[in-house]
Amino acid sequence: ERHDLIYWLQHLVDRFEMLVKDRDVSFVRHFSHWPIQVYMDSDKMTQVFNNIISNALKFSPEGGTITVGAKLRENEVLIDILDEGQGIPIKDQHKIFDRFYRVDKARARNLGGTGLGLAIVKEMIDAHQGSVWVSSEPGQGTRITISLPLASSGAGGESNG
Ligand code: ATP
Ligand code: MG
Repeated sequence: ERHDLIYWLQHLVDRFEMLVKDRDVSFVRHFSHWPIQVYMDSDKMTQVFNNIISNALKFSPEGGTITVGAKLRENEVLIDILDEGQGIPIKDQHKIFDRFYRVDKARARNLGGTGLGLAIVKEMIDAHQGSVWVSSEPGQGTRITISLPLASSGAGGESNG
C-alpha cells in the first residue's frame, strides 16, 4: 500500500524512544519536511527497521546517539540509520547481509542473536525493489542505508490521462 514514509518513520522512532526510556541512548531525526510517498508492506518494513535499529541499540555505547534520516532524491528516497558503536571492519562489511554471519563470534555470543536479522532485511528490501548497504569506519560507528523507489505521482492508475 501507499504510505507517507516520513509520517510512518516518525511513528516508528516514537515507538523506539518509548521502548528505550531506561537506556542512555537518544534518537535524532533528520527528516524531509515534506511527505515522501512509497509503496510498501508496512508489516515487513516494520520488521526491517526493527532489525536495523535493534542492531544499532545493541552496539550503541552508553550516551550514544542513533540518527535516523530520510531524504528525497530524484527517483528514490534514501533512509539511513547511523549509530556510534564500534563499527564493522571493512573486510566483513560485504558479509553482514549473509545468513548467520556475525563479525565477532565471541562478542556476538555475549550480545546474543543468530545472524539472521540483516539477511531478512536484505530479502525484504529486495522484495520492495530497493537496495540496502552498509558504510562503516571501524571505531566510528555504522551507517545502514536503504534506497526505496518513489510512488511516482500519476503512475498509480489514479489519473485518467
Ligand atoms: P539477529 O539479528 O538474528 O538477532 P545479529 O544481530 O547477530 O543476530 P544481524 O542483524 O544479521 O545478526 O547482523 C550481523 C552481524 O553484523 C552482527 O552479528 C554484527 O557483528 C554486525 N552488525 C550489524 N549491525 C551492526 C552495528 N550497528 N554495529 C556493529 N556491528 C553490527
Ligand atoms: Mg540483528
